Amino acid sequence: MKIGFLGLGQMGHAMAANLLKAGHDLTVWNRSADKAKELVAAGARLAATPVEAGQGEVVMSMLADDAAVEAVVYGENGILGAPALHVSHSTIGVTLVERLTRDHAARSGFVSAPVFGRPPAAQAGKLFVVAAGETEAVDRCAPLFEAMGQRTFRVGTTPSAANVVKLGGNFMIMAAVEAMAEAMTLAEAGGVERRAMLEVLTGTIFNAPVYSLYGEILVEDRFRPAGFAAPLGLKDMNLVDAAATASRVPMPVLGVVRDHLRATIANHGADVDWAGIALAVRQAAGRD
Ligand code: NAP
Repeated sequence: MKIGFLGLGQMGHAMAANLLKAGHDLTVWNRSADKAKELVAAGARLAATPVEAGQGEVVMSMLADDAAVEAVVYGENGILGAPALHVSHSTIGVTLVERLTRDHAARSGFVSAPVFGRPPAAQAGKLFVVAAGETEAVDRCAPLFEAMGQRTFRVGTTPSAANVVKLGGNFMIMAAVEAMAEAMTLAEAGGVERRAMLEVLTGTIFNAPVYSLYGEILVEDRFRPAGFAAPLGLKDMNLVDAAATASRVPMPVLGVVRDHLRATIANHGADVDWAGIALAVRQAAGRD
């Protein structure tokens, strides 16, 4: 399929590489063009503008946040007027997705397909894709999702539904990391090593990927280089808050993890992984 890919950050670069490997005719664009070098060497074409990458059947975007997506869609040389179906993979807010859905409706069409999985999962083609949009449009994307992920979940025909699911999931990751960091800090204060605590957790009823993946990061203090940077995590918790406010859903735990993200960024810098909230938990207990 003739496709375009916008945004070659940690996630986008790996996803685009898998589309290329699957044999698709790929045109890429990134704000900083140097990040496209490897993909161009592997056979992708480099577009000078987003709209140039949107001339095929589908154009996918994987960008940092709402502002980046707005710039690439509505800005100069944005893809709004392009013929390709826009598939948005970024973790962005519900309100922006509703606006994108409206504005693409009479034109190319719009599918929202945020993903679960960190950069190593993206490299291995093992992401989980959560897709929502018109059935025919999502059907058309199925082979593309298969090239990037291990499973696609369809959550309806309203694109913003996929973002509600993704934001809810990211909130749960933060809540799980917060709970595990608190329990590990308590264990350490009681003379039990973090590694021993993790073995008990994952060997009993907490044997879920979220605990084993983030548990290893907490045990080994693997907060740099960030697989998912804390400022992006804070961006997501702010998007959860906006959605919760709009729907009048109280989420008291959200306040705790959001403050711990703020404290982590303030004390340890913007390049720390979002699992670094464990550092805020330890600091509050006088154990940093
Ligand atoms: P990243 O490595 O920081 O990449 C961000 C991308 O957005 C880069 O291509 C960057 O371009 C581009 N960008 C930022 N601001 C822009 C602007 N104003 N105009 C145009 N392009 C702009 O981030 P990432 O980790 O790949 O994350 C990308 C998205 O995936 C985010 O929404 C994130 O929440 C979501 N996500 C991440 C993970 C993870 O574990 N990392 C997992 C699931 C979902 P430059 O290269 O020019 O800076």
